[in-house]
Amino acid sequence: MTKDVNLTEKLKQYFGFDKFKGDQETIIRNLLAGNDTFVLMPTGGGKSLCYQLPSLLMEGTGIVISPLIALMKNQVDVMNGMSEHGCVAHYLNSSLNKSSILEVMEDVRQRKTKLLYVAPESLSKEENIEFLKTIKVSFYAIDEAHCISEWGHDFRPEYRNIRPTIMKIGKAPIIALTATATDKVRSDIKKNLGISDAKEFKSSFNRVNLYYEVRSKTQDVDRNIIMFIKQHADKSGIIYCLSRKKVEELAAVLQANNIKAAPYHAGLDSATRSQTQDDFLMERIDVIVATIAFGMGIDKPDVRFVIHYDIPKSLEGYYQETGRAGRDGGEGLCIAFYSNQDLRKLEKFIDGKSGAEQDIGRQLLLETAAYAESSVCRRKMLLHYFGEEYTEENCHNCDNCLHPKTKREAKDALLIVLKAVLAVKENFRTDYVINFIKGRPTDDIVSHGHHELDEFGAGEDEDDKIWTPVIHQALIAGYLKKDVENYGLLKITASGRRFIKSPHSFMIVEDNEFNEDFEEETRDSSGSTLDPELYAMLKQLRKDVAERNNVPPYVIFQDVSLEQMAVMYPINLDELQNIPGVGVGKAKRYGKEFCELIERHCTANDIERPEELRVRTVAKKSMNKVKIIQAIDRQIPLDDIASTESIDFNELLDEIEAIVYSGTKLNIDYFLEEVMDEDHIEDIYEYFRTSDTDNIPVACEELGGDYSEEEIRLVRIKFLSEMAN
Ligand code: ADP
Ligand code: MG
Repeated sequence: MTKDVNLTEKLKQYFGFDKFKGDQETIIRNLLAGNDTFVLMPTGGGKSLCYQLPSLLMEGTGIVISPLIALMKNQVDVMNGMSEHGCVAHYLNSSLNKSSILEVMEDVRQRKTKLLYVAPESLSKEENIEFLKTIKVSFYAIDEAHCISEWGHDFRPEYRNIRPTIMKIGKAPIIALTATATDKVRSDIKKNLGISDAKEFKSSFNRVNLYYEVRSKTQDVDRNIIMFIKQHADKSGIIYCLSRKKVEELAAVLQANNIKAAPYHAGLDSATRSQTQDDFLMERIDVIVATIAFGMGIDKPDVRFVIHYDIPKSLEGYYQETGRAGRDGGEGLCIAFYSNQDLRKLEKFIDGKSGAEQDIGRQLLLETAAYAESSVCRRKMLLHYFGEEYTEENCHNCDNCLHPKTKREAKDALLIVLKAVLAVKENFRTDYVINFIKGRPTDDIVSHGHHELDEFGAGEDEDDKIWTPVIHQALIAGYLKKDVENYGLLKITASGRRFIKSPHSFMIVEDNEFNEDFEEETRDSSGSTLDPELYAMLKQLRKDVAERNNVPPYVIFQDVSLEQMAVMYPINLDELQNIPGVGVGKAKRYGKEFCELIERHCTANDIERPEELRVRTVAKKSMNKVKIIQAIDRQIPLDDIASTESIDFNELLDEIEAIVYSGTKLNIDYFLEEVMDEDHIEDIYEYFRTSDTDNIPVACEELGGDYSEEEIRLVRIKFLSEMAN
């Protein structure tokens, strides 16, 4: 193609766009000139156009290798929609039948088709190779090129065959495109495709409109998410979970809380999946709960939040998934939940894999953990991970920048680290170096004889927790780097060597703590603390009601129920039923007075009720409960019910107690009479009538050990059922 072709005109003519985005034009010119080209552009940057437009201008047919069949169809439709004939673009993949394949081939042969999308496994089929040999190929475009590398987040072995296949078909310029690639992945791609001289076009990976935050994953994560969604009502969002099971569970919890949510994962049939996608695009659904299977083909510009329920397996995946937020440049909130426990679970999972895979998986996971735990600007960390330097002091759009930690001097610590890296000949990874610095003679260290070096244990006196952040931040600051070939080996940079010669101040921030016991803290931060004044009033009311009904107070409502009322402020029977331990029966029987009291209290004290906090949980065993109630109605012996449900007897009693506590009446007399003496039943029953607690250990003690715990529990069920419900 000629140099002076007016590309902007062509862009307007074919695609209707007025100007190019980012580097599109230079990229296109480079390809038109017949050069190999490497494009790194964030999701939504407009990569497809970099091969679509050239294909229309070049002689022959451009071959696009792309992993996703759904995506191909989409792009082909778009291309054909612009042209007069519906055959400018075609695809070849396993979804086509024989006659469609022949049609496609005919169009290509007649030179009507300028762009042919091929799945990698179709490309390497012998008959397709034979066919493609006979046509003029204008270029090969390898989309989602990171699939070539095992160090990418979506390795596909078929991608490894692309180069040999291309060699068979015939030479033409290659353009590789991806939205995520670390130095390592980039070098893998170039090497594998044999395009080491390709000109590289790398746009900034900085998505200024995205806000990054890592929250510690607590017991309350569901509530936390529900609150977040309610605070962003009617906005579109995606929640990523690692397992299908979690996807289903969380979607159900959200639905139960009146959030328009739907699950999405590869285990659902394709009709359901495409319906869900449609609903999301058309905004009939606000929130998609998904495994990573969702989103690759989705081009919804106004996704306002992306939540990671579980820690992602790699930062590439994380960046890719968060990248689906705010494509239109508007708000994009990216919240990830992180816990050490999750990390360990993932590590276990990795342990099950083969050697090399295991090693790679662990390295990638460690990078994610370092990101999550660090107090450094999230943007800086992410960009550094993708080989880009972010020099701003404060990005004002991540949790760490909005709540900066005080810095501390780490000059001496950095010196220790750098010397240690040199001492072990720049041949080891972070964990090894840290053990070395701490003076831990691990088997590995001993086998290398490193425990005999002077530098071994040089950091013994320092705070243990400092080494990870020092190394991480030394990498970001450029004193250290990770080797690309042997990924992860710590190497000293020139500025690291200069630092050793003349050390100077090195300020760092300590990592965030992620211990699991956050219950108290989240309660405070979500404002859901117990209202002591209301709690006292509720207790008094319960006492009055109990006296009036001549039953012990706990029969009315359990303490935990009152506590929750003093947190959630339910003011009508519907809301009251969301309180744990309050079912329909109890709400109807005793609820009114309690709701009235709460409402009076709220009005008198100007209390804003935490509406979004009223989280409805989905009873996981609700199926079980229904079955149990039905079985008891049919007077099936309890031990039989336990065995058909394959739970043990005590678990069954737990279930029955939960049913009764929430206000459903159950009559288990048929069973009691069968297994217990009438006197004993009466004795225990009487005890509960007069006791002021229904605590089982207390009852066992008070009843002088005459009865077994099971017997006491059984009678308590009868008692609660009759008195309270
Ligand atoms: P990527 O593959 O990089 O994620 P796409 O190629 O799917 O991105 O493009 C993202 C969106 O940007 C598409 O909707 C596309 O039509 C649009 N787009 C691409 N180039 C331009 C341009 N020059 N002007 C306006 N919109 C563009
Ligand atoms: Mg793309």
